[in-house]
Amino acid sequence: MTGASVFRLTVDLDAVARNYLFFKKKLVNGADCSAVVKADAYGLGAAPVSKTLFAQGCRHFFTVHLEEALDVKSVLPSPGIGQDSWIYALNGPCGMGRDFAAAGIVPVLNTLGDLDDWRAEAQRSGRVLPAILHIDTGMNRLGLSAADVEKLAENVDGLSGLDIRYVMSHLACADQPSHPKNAEQLALFKKLSAKLGRPFRYSFANSAGVLLGPDYHFDLARPGCGLYGINPYGTGVNPMQGAVTFEARILQIRDITEPGTVGYGATYSVSPPAQCATISVGYADGYARALQAMGTVVIAGEKCKVIGRVSMDTVVVDTTLIKGKAKAGDMAQIIGPNQLVDDVARQQGTIGYEILTSIGRRVPRIYKSAETL
Ligand SMILES: *Cc1c(COP(=O)(O)O)cnc(C)c1O
Repeated sequence: MTGASVFRLTVDLDAVARNYLFFKKKLVNGADCSAVVKADAYGLGAAPVSKTLFAQGCRHFFTVHLEEALDVKSVLPSPGIGQDSWIYALNGPCGMGRDFAAAGIVPVLNTLGDLDDWRAEAQRSGRVLPAILHIDTGMNRLGLSAADVEKLAENVDGLSGLDIRYVMSHLACADQPSHPKNAEQLALFKKLSAKLGRPFRYSFANSAGVLLGPDYHFDLARPGCGLYGINPYGTGVNPMQGAVTFEARILQIRDITEPGTVGYGATYSVSPPAQCATISVGYADGYARALQAMGTVVIAGEKCKVIGRVSMDTVVVDTTLIKGKAKAGDMAQIIGPNQLVDDVARQQGTIGYEILTSIGRRVPRIYKSAETL
């Protein structure tokens, strides 16, 4: 854990738990609340996050791939089919139906082909197998099309041997509450679901979808980003609590005594009187090269501008205005209370999701919780 003194990503598991409870409280009509823990819980660590949320009563966990699902399974008390908790894989069985069934991981079926494969696996194993059925209502990304739904509705054996836990769909514009596509997708979801005949349980809302109101809640919500402190709306007042602090060490402070340039390509000119600090974080750690234009890091409570190009392992910032207030060895804040993940996303021209999932593997994750895990 020596890396912790060079840089660290501190994850506040209590904040993650509070964000989960925030969503749970919004679900007024008896809807259950899952946790989307794909991509290692958006980079925070799927194992500790899943354990924390299980302790808060969460029993539904969404991953994307079988490997991710197995990682989550290994830390939960009694996961699997018919057990306490349910672990889903959003990208479907991908030809690994047998492994899914053996491990008790529930695939989201996105195509009629997925359905055929999972039905065949049910037949082969002589078991009724659980699944989530995904219908596309406007993303054009994954899920059965309207024509597929018609076909399935006409096929009396289409779902035989399967226990459809939920019928789900995914919103394209939930982060823009006034976007007309939200109501369109809602109407189409109801219409296509009705074609399947018998009532199922339904799952529709991601983080921002939960905030659209009870019409969007159905039986199981699927928040992800908000759990990790990302603003579901991207901008404006963030209803979520920040869950990560990303800090990196100041390696050197340099007083500029004669005119010169900073970094690769000599793209940034400096002249006295100026001071700059070299920070131990670079694009290999998720501090994107694109941040050379707008990036800031917080030192001694002040935002210091990135100057010159971001290197693989270091970045240089201007500390002229805080001269004397920082020294080598101090930690600079990349993300934290003074600079939210959404602020860094804006500087980089992206979204908080990409910022968190890009934080490098070599950055140690440190977990903070008042509860014993
Ligand atoms: C990633 C994902 C979610 C979670 O979305 P957030 O915007 O992070 O809350 C929910 N459902 C599906 C299908 C997803 O891919």
